[in-house]
Amino acid sequence: MFHLILFLFFGAICVAGAVNLLVQSHPINSALSLIAVMASLAVEYLLLGAEFLNAVQIIVYAGAVMVLFIITIMLLNAGEEERSKAGRRYGEAPKLAPGALPMFKPAAKPISAEGVGKYAIKFTWNDDHDLGIYSWKLLRELCPCEECKAARAGTE
Ligand SMILES: [Zn+2]
Repeated sequence: MFHLILFLFFGAICVAGAVNLLVQSHPINSALSLIAVMASLAVEYLLLGAEFLNAVQIIVYAGAVMVLFIITIMLLNAGEEERSKAGRRYGEAPKLAPGALPMFKPAAKPISAEGVGKYAIKFTWNDDHDLGIYSWKLLRELCPCEECKAARAGTE
């Protein structure tokens, strides 16, 4: 009788873990509930008297396969994280290289501007670089004046 109750209990955990696996939006959470499914399945095997299958289930599936899954998921997410770390906001100076001494750098100012087609302008800066184009749309988004603020509020 106690055996049956345990069997049903771990069966319920197994089904709940499987449903949670499908519902979760983040892959790490899904992988963790898959581990719960594997582990409760291993207990079910033990309750049915299959000790070897129980050991194999824990070692191979809950252990090796899930570690592989989780490492793969973390590896795939790493790219996105690194991109956001390196990203700068407009007008922000580039970060110093590790070990570089902080030295005074005047803020870059545009000294001339020319149009690029109909959709953007290109600046020549006072530090002699002229790379990068700034679309009118982007400049409207960055502009702090009242008119542009009102336009942004209207579209959002
Ligand atoms: Zn403006």
